[in-house]
Amino acid sequence: MTKVYLNKRITPRIAQGHPWIYNNEVDRVAGQVEPGDIVEVYYFDGKLVGRGYINPESQILIRLLTRKREDIGAVFFQDKIKEAWAYRQKLGYTENCRLVFGEADGLPALIIDKFNDYFVLQTLSLGIEKWKASIVEALQNIFSPKGIYERNDVPVRELEGLTQQKGFLTDPFATEIIIKENELKFYVDIENGQKTGYFLDQQDNRKAIQNIVKGADVLGAFTYTGTFEIHAAHYGAKSVLGIDISENAVAQANKNAALNNLQDIVKFEAMNAFDVLKNWGREGRKYDVVMLDPPAFTKSRANIGKAVTGYKEINLRGMQLIRNGGFLVSSSCTNLVSPELFLETIEMAARDAKKRIRQVTYQSQSSDHPIIWGMENTHYLKFLIVEVCDR
Ligand code: SAH
Repeated sequence: MTKVYLNKRITPRIAQGHPWIYNNEVDRVAGQVEPGDIVEVYYFDGKLVGRGYINPESQILIRLLTRKREDIGAVFFQDKIKEAWAYRQKLGYTENCRLVFGEADGLPALIIDKFNDYFVLQTLSLGIEKWKASIVEALQNIFSPKGIYERNDVPVRELEGLTQQKGFLTDPFATEIIIKENELKFYVDIENGQKTGYFLDQQDNRKAIQNIVKGADVLGAFTYTGTFEIHAAHYGAKSVLGIDISENAVAQANKNAALNNLQDIVKFEAMNAFDVLKNWGREGRKYDVVMLDPPAFTKSRANIGKAVTGYKEINLRGMQLIRNGGFLVSSSCTNLVSPELFLETIEMAARDAKKRIRQVTYQSQSSDHPIIWGMENTHYLKFLIVEVCDR
C-alpha cells in the first residue's frame, strides 16, 4: 500500500477528525498510485493518520475511511453499513431513512437512502465508486432488498472525473414506489424524482407544523411532491394551495393528495413562486400560514450574496401574505448559507416587511442526517417557524 506523508504544518482539522486531505497538505506520496487506490497516510513525524482513498484528479486528494490500520474491503463496508443502520434504529427509524450520510457515517461521498425495501445509492467520488459492487453486496446481505437503484446523475461527480449516470444495481423493478411517513402515504419516483426521489431530511420538520396549521388557510411554495402541504391538510388545515415550478412535481403532488384522500383540501399548481409571492402580495391575498422550502440557491461561495438576496425576497414577500398572528415556515438547504446568516436574513426580511416576528421553533435536518461538529457541510438544513405580527 502506498504511503502518503502530510506536511509538517497541517491544519488541526485533520488531527481533530476531519476526513479530507487537500493537495496542498501533502508533503510526498511515496510510490505510484492509481486514482481511487487505498493509501496509508502518515503525519510528517511518521505517526499513522489512517487509511483512505486517493484521487489526484480531485481537489480533495484523500478522503480517510479509517484512523486504524485495518483492511478496507467488502467486510469493512458491510460493517460500516450495519453500524449506520444500528444507529438509525436506535434513533427510532424503522422503514425510511438516509441510511448512510457520507462523511457523517465515516463513508465519505457515499449516500444511501432507504425507502423501506428499496435503496437508492449515490457514489459521489471515484474512491467510493470503486467499491460500489461491495456496497451493493453488503446491502443485499443485510437487507435482502426488493431493489437497489443508482442516482449518480449529479454534476459533482464530474469534479472527480466520473460520468453522470443512473440505473438499476439489481434486477429491474417498478421504480414508482409508495412510502409511509407520519401515517401518510407518498409516491416516490426513484428513477426520475429529484435527487434520490424524496427529501427525507425534512421528516421531523413536517411534523413540526402540526399545531399551527389547524383550521388555517395555507400557502406552500417550492412544494415538490407536496409533502409539507399534504401534512398540513392531514393536520387539519382548512385549505392548502401548493406552488411548484415543475409540472412533473405538481402532477406527483396532486397524485399524492389523492392517495391520502385529501384532494378536496389540498391543491397544487405549476407556477413560479417568485412571481406568485410578489403578485399575490400586491393583490392583498392573505393566508394564515406560508411555507417556503426552496432548492439550494448556490453551490459556490461567489454567489452567497445572491442566495441571501433570494432568501430575503421570498421571506419578505411570504411575510406580507400572512394574516396578523399567522405563521411563516421557512427552510434553507443552501450549505454555504450558515444558520447565523439565514436567521439574520429572516430578521432583515421582517424589518423590511414591517412585521414583528416571534420564534416558534428552529430546527435542522432530521437525525438520520447526523451533523458532525467541525464538519460544516454536514449541517446544511435550516428550518424555522415564526409567528408574524403586524407592527
Ligand atoms: N418541500 C419539498 C422539497 C422542495 S425541493 C419536500 O419536502 O419534499 C424545491 C422545489 O422547488 C423543487 O421541486 C423545484 O421544482 C421547486 N422550484 C425551484 N424553483 C422554483 C420557482 N422559481 N418557483 C416554484 N418552485 C420552484
